[in-house]
Amino acid sequence: MTCNDSFPMLVSSEDAASLAAVVTGSVLLPGDSGYDDERAVFNLNHELMPAVIVVVENAADVQAAIAFAAARRRPVLVKATGHQMVGTADDAVMIATRRMNDVTIDAVGRTARVGAGAVWGEVVAAAAKDGLAPLNGSNPTVGVCGYTLGGGLSPTLGRSHGYAADHVRSLEVVTADGELRQVDAHSEPELFWAMLGGKGNFGVVTALEFDVFPVARLYGGGIYFPGERMADVLRAWTAWHPGTPETMISSFAVLRLPPLPALPEPLRGVFSVSLRFAYNGTAVDGERMIAPLRAVGPAILDTVRDMPYSEVASIHDEPTEPLPYYERGVMLREFPAQAQDRLIELVGPESDTTMWIAELRALGGAWDREPAAGNAVATRGLPYSLLGVEVGPLSQEQRLKESVAALLDGMKPWAGDRRLVNNLAPEEAADAAAVYGPERHARLAAVKRTYDPTNMFRINHNVAPAT
Ligand SMILES: Cc1cc2nc3c(=O)[nH]c(=O)nc-3n(C[C@H](O)[C@H](O)[C@H](O)COP(=O)(O)OP(=O)(O)OC[C@H]3O[C@@H](n4cnc5c(N)ncnc54)[C@H](O)[C@@H]3O)c2cc1C
Repeated sequence: MTCNDSFPMLVSSEDAASLAAVVTGSVLLPGDSGYDDERAVFNLNHELMPAVIVVVENAADVQAAIAFAAARRRPVLVKATGHQMVGTADDAVMIATRRMNDVTIDAVGRTARVGAGAVWGEVVAAAAKDGLAPLNGSNPTVGVCGYTLGGGLSPTLGRSHGYAADHVRSLEVVTADGELRQVDAHSEPELFWAMLGGKGNFGVVTALEFDVFPVARLYGGGIYFPGERMADVLRAWTAWHPGTPETMISSFAVLRLPPLPALPEPLRGVFSVSLRFAYNGTAVDGERMIAPLRAVGPAILDTVRDMPYSEVASIHDEPTEPLPYYERGVMLREFPAQAQDRLIELVGPESDTTMWIAELRALGGAWDREPAAGNAVATRGLPYSLLGVEVGPLSQEQRLKESVAALLDGMKPWAGDRRLVNNLAPEEAADAAAVYGPERHARLAAVKRTYDPTNMFRINHNVAPAT
């Protein structure tokens, strides 16, 4: 471990023992057994080195950790899975929520109540037993809490149902003053509005309750074409998807995958383009709908099929084990023919890019509609989300960053004026105003001043308290 342990980063073992005496979970200092496991994150190029880690078991543990941090004026970092960490956190109290992963499905009320540490794979599996489905993301290892507070863009049900944040009924939250609050649209409307989209800026969620929907199966999967066909596939998809019903969600990706044994054999070491579909309707209708795209040409692999919702992660088939990568996203406000040509130049067969994945998700539908209670999700009305992902070790950081920047810079003429906080890179931590737009950001900053005036929760994509 290469922790910078000069004062005031260090927490003394006596101090840690005083915290350990009042929590049910574990308190870990650098060098303790288990410390390295708890600070590990999904991106192997990112390293956390918190001054102390509290592996919490319940809401009272979260309260104790926050009181400890407040008394010592230390920032607090929350980690569920480590999919989107910011900075090294070396002066921070890190709250690790992964043990708080209870999932309870109310099949009659069609709700799920989950602990702060639950991941989507667990909720999808539990809900599927009752023929229900949540608004989960593409990857089963992503944490429910961070994803939902950041908006939560579900590539399987979102176009017909909206953001995951739109369907949260209540949050149980510990705020910077150490109070455990039940937060919903009636009890604490401003805090509820801000947390749903404003993410971890206002407190630590210990549990959340949200709607689940009667969806037991889907017609979905991916069709992979040779990368050389990018222009035909992209143009056919771009012309096709706006005419589809909201129950059909689709996305386009350019893939330069390495020859890894974990990948399906036909995709190993191959340059391909893929169309991903999730249709909440019959297989017969789905098959008829996507027929014009299947007709674009012979596929390398076609996994589109009728599937139980429990297999939904296979549609995007993303890595579930940590890897070294760099990713950044942008929302597009339009994607006309000129933008399509530009994307083909940037990542198509004639380009010299090394990018692993450039993914374009088509949005619209319920993603554009404000929920009744309103929330801070900033991206309504923007029709596409574009993400670039490069994979490689830290020693190649410059190359990875330049490669992703080339994509985003090239697409700048069509970029939207707001962003999805879930797609922000670590170094975009200070960009909150640009992400939310000025009005929404001012309202978030006012809520922050009320609930976290000292900016205890600042190791994130930060909204600073209004002055
Ligand atoms: C492979 C992959 C696929 C993804 N797919 C999607 C997708 O389909 N749709 C989408 O919208 N996003 C997607 N994301 C982005 C994802 O939603 C964000 O990375 C999200 O922040 C992950 O949350 P986490 O809890 O897993 O991560 P963590 O790194 O553990 O947490 C990230 C941040 O979330 C906040 N947070 C987490 N838990 C709490 C809590 N209990 N209280 C308060 N704040 C908390 C904190 O600010 C924390 O810093 C994907 C990310 C990856 C890496």
